[in-house]
Amino acid sequence: MPRTHKSFPRLYVEHSLGKGEIVMLGREQTNYLISVLRMKAGDAVIIFNGSDGAWLAKIADPNRKAVTLELVVQTAHQTPPSDLWYGFAPLKAGRLDYVIQKATEMGAGIIQPVITRFTQVGKLKPEKLRANAIEAAEQCEVLSIPAIPPEIGLDALLASWRPTQGLRRLIVCDESAPSASPVEQLARLDGLPMGLLVGPEGGFSDDERVQLLAQPFVIPISLGPRILRADTAAVAALAIVQATIGDWR
Ligand code: SAH
Repeated sequence: MPRTHKSFPRLYVEHSLGKGEIVMLGREQTNYLISVLRMKAGDAVIIFNGSDGAWLAKIADPNRKAVTLELVVQTAHQTPPSDLWYGFAPLKAGRLDYVIQKATEMGAGIIQPVITRFTQVGKLKPEKLRANAIEAAEQCEVLSIPAIPPEIGLDALLASWRPTQGLRRLIVCDESAPSASPVEQLARLDGLPMGLLVGPEGGFSDDERVQLLAQPFVIPISLGPRILRADTAAVAALAIVQATIGDWR
């Protein structure tokens, strides 16, 4: 997408968007525009809501308690949400935020936490995960916020894969696979709906690997000769999938 209005702040709002609509912002976004960016009446922002595209809006009332925006013109039509399913074993706090943000920037449409044997994480906070996805979406100009379903165990994921995902293939980053470039393997999957799964810091257990490799819809890939940290693997795997068969083309 060509970068338009790149100098204007982008805000995600949960509000219908249309010509002349008036949108009142909450405290956090008001504080960001007025106190942090020191914006004034008449200044412009870009707002989006995940379904009505992006809109240029002007500050109608720079009220420090609640800024009011008036929509001027649509600057981008809504694009369909990405169909790329990304599954990952949640990581500890900061790196969990990082993976959600990177998966959003890299174009994942569904970001599915998958609990595996060596996953080390407590209860996930859905609102925090969503806030990370929104922050990343605002920054990287995507127009849809990725869906982040509740965490699911690996067994349940595999058992429900065919009924819920149909023909989607599940590319599994297997750290024990013989080192190889996955480019040819991925090229053969072009045109099919795609899922990508990265394991936890401790990797997949032997039983999990056997279980994964036994699934007809699983395509194990190597990410080269070095063992990458799970958050590095996330970005590397998403990059190679998007570059070979995804939306970077
Ligand atoms: N068990 C390993 C670490 C696994 S890395 C150890 O402790 O040394 C975490 C996840 O990143 C893996 O489960 C895998 O999904 C992915 N990954 C890391 N390096 C990889 C590689 N070279 N090839 C494929 N996947 C890799």
